[in-house]
Amino acid sequence: MKNINPLVSLEDVISCLSSYDPDSIRVDEAQDIINTMARGSLTSLAVEKVSLRSTLGRILARDIISPVNVPYQDNAAMDGYAFNGSIISDSDERLVTLENRGVLLAGRVAEGVCVIGECFQIMTGAPMPHNTDTVVPQEFIEKQGQKIKFLRTAVAKGDNRRKRGEDLKKDSVALQKGRIIRACDLGLLASLGLVEIEVYRKLRIAFFSTGDELRSIGDQLNEGGVYDSNRYSLYGMLTKLGFDLLDMGVIADNSVDLKKAFSIAAKNADAVITTGGVSVGDADYTKEVMKELGKVEFWKIAMRPGRPMAFGQIVSNRGTEDENSALLFGLPGNPVAVMITFYIFVQHALLQMAGSNESMLKMQSVKLRETIKKKPGRIEYRRAKFVGCDNALEVVLTGHQGSGILRSMTEADCLIVLEHDREKFEAGNIVPAFIFDGLI
Ligand code: AMP
Ligand code: MG
Repeated sequence: MKNINPLVSLEDVISCLSSYDPDSIRVDEAQDIINTMARGSLTSLAVEKVSLRSTLGRILARDIISPVNVPYQDNAAMDGYAFNGSIISDSDERLVTLENRGVLLAGRVAEGVCVIGECFQIMTGAPMPHNTDTVVPQEFIEKQGQKIKFLRTAVAKGDNRRKRGEDLKKDSVALQKGRIIRACDLGLLASLGLVEIEVYRKLRIAFFSTGDELRSIGDQLNEGGVYDSNRYSLYGMLTKLGFDLLDMGVIADNSVDLKKAFSIAAKNADAVITTGGVSVGDADYTKEVMKELGKVEFWKIAMRPGRPMAFGQIVSNRGTEDENSALLFGLPGNPVAVMITFYIFVQHALLQMAGSNESMLKMQSVKLRETIKKKPGRIEYRRAKFVGCDNALEVVLTGHQGSGILRSMTEADCLIVLEHDREKFEAGNIVPAFIFDGLI
């Protein structure tokens, strides 16, 4: 397997920073380091051709150039009568009388030219006959045998006609390289008649949980045991991003098992995500093993939840033909901290590695319904739900905000961002928030 190999090293990235303190690193500094590393690994992502439907959620590897005009030709935007609008004038209220030459259903093309004084009955989508540019809707006309009559003021010249190429012009860029394909894009690509699309190969992500206390779902929970929930939220978040996943289960807190797991992960994946074992006071196996396999930094990030985190590059089969390196994200163990550090640090980095130029984090201003206090000197991310909409969306917190309380996530509509330096946020204050769900 040929993976993407980072072009930049973590040492180089860190040495470029004027201030770097792993024991007190700001969220934006950590994001900069991570994103620089992720962009640096973008060289040789393979491209594959997939059928249109299979592109949903994939990342475009080339600009899509429109091979046709959409619509292909001028056509009717309403059911009515197509005619040449040069006979219309705003100030003239007299009736127009036109001779109807026949009916054009969608897809039918009129024969000959429609001269002044004539019209064709036309259905929405049917091509406009030669020499016509206006459609008078059928509810505005009166029929008299083969003739129709309507007030000149009922329509203006050019009304109710869709122009050739008004959606997309031939040879223009319809979608840009790096875009993540959404439902509307499938429709747009289909409107160009495209059968197969070039997308980047899926990024491969290995992930596992660490902790002797962790039990698998289905097992009996005993004293001191905790069900492993992190792997499931990670699975959900990673699957939504469309990656190939290698779920490596739970790895016990001992250096032999951990080393084996990291080696397999580094060999088979572009990025490795682990949870647990990076806090102060944790058994130091994870840290030791990570350090043995590559260059990994252990951060205390000025944020809550999610203070401890490890980030770096690990390498497998070092010095051999099969050498492969992977970015490593060692997330904290607490379930809410896992999700928040994933959204804040991991998601965008992985998308960049996968060839995307989009950010999935959508920010929106929201209004606090309650006063919130926090410690200055760190960013706090609180889970909140929408309660109303005055001028701005109003939110309340979803109860207890402990970093182990997953319910605070499941009940939330958004993650509000309480800025680094401030201490107090009054009810009525506007704060930024990341919205959990979007329409498309
Ligand atoms: P750690 O960072 O390993 O010290 O873990 C911090 C807390 O998160 C501990 O209470 C762990 O039991 C809990 N935890 C760690 N990993 C998981 C997991 N995979 N699922 C649920 N809870 C976890
Ligand atoms: Mg642990």
